[in-house]
Amino acid sequence: MSVDRSLRSILSSSALPPNEARILLAHVLEQHYQLPRSALLSRDDMLLSSVAMDAWKALEARRIEGEPIAYILGKKGFHNIELLVAPGVLIPRPETELLVDIALGEISNRPGHIKILDLGTGSGAIALAVASAAPQSSVTATDQSPDALAIATLNAQSLSLTEQVQFRQGSWYQALDSQALFDVILSNPPYITAQDPHLSQGDLRFEPSSALTDYGNGLSCLEAIISQADQYLKPGGLIAVEHGFDQSDAVVQLMNSAGFNDIEVHLDLSGHTRAVSGRK
Ligand code: GLN
Repeated sequence: MSVDRSLRSILSSSALPPNEARILLAHVLEQHYQLPRSALLSRDDMLLSSVAMDAWKALEARRIEGEPIAYILGKKGFHNIELLVAPGVLIPRPETELLVDIALGEISNRPGHIKILDLGTGSGAIALAVASAAPQSSVTATDQSPDALAIATLNAQSLSLTEQVQFRQGSWYQALDSQALFDVILSNPPYITAQDPHLSQGDLRFEPSSALTDYGNGLSCLEAIISQADQYLKPGGLIAVEHGFDQSDAVVQLMNSAGFNDIEVHLDLSGHTRAVSGRK
């Protein structure tokens, strides 16, 4: 039986949700024909070559198995940059752009050079988005995972930010010199509780569990970061951390216990409390 290899019939017969099929087929068109996504519509009668058809089938099968689109494509847009992503790092989430915007707001209120710290940088998302949008900043980004730092370093190279962003390996502040001082500390640490059923569902199954959960009550990394921040913040410096939708009260309490002032709760685009900031 001959298979109809037109774009239109591939899309209409795919087992994937239409938006996902379009993303993956657009990727095949880009890779095999250097065609833009608009070709899905403007050339919907185009026939794929057998090589491109095999590529499509392979991508479709991976997605049907549940692999996240970002790992299949090897990239993910975040804030104003595009990042390489691979299974060693968390896929950057839109809600994490909130931390970038908090940092950029702080930077725009302060003259001169600003030193930023991103703890648990993963793909480098927060560090690189801030550095890219604020050339007057210098950013130190840490991660305990050498695999994550390798990906973050590739991202810094492809964004030409290697001068502005420095990577350090180690667990939270242990990655730093004890004398290091920053104007802004940012972190999106693992905050999912060990028992959360979401860990074994959807995209999360494919992401590094150490980037998602603290294997405890969800608050232990946030506590480690907040309780030691004072030592690494300049007077008047700001700390902002991301947290789970139901952790805001607990994080505010951690900020209070650590002696921070001007504690603020920030909402993400879906209206969930998603980050807390405090000032030294
Ligand atoms: N900082 C990275 C991000 O926000 C990684 C976070 C993590 O691995 N928990 O995407």
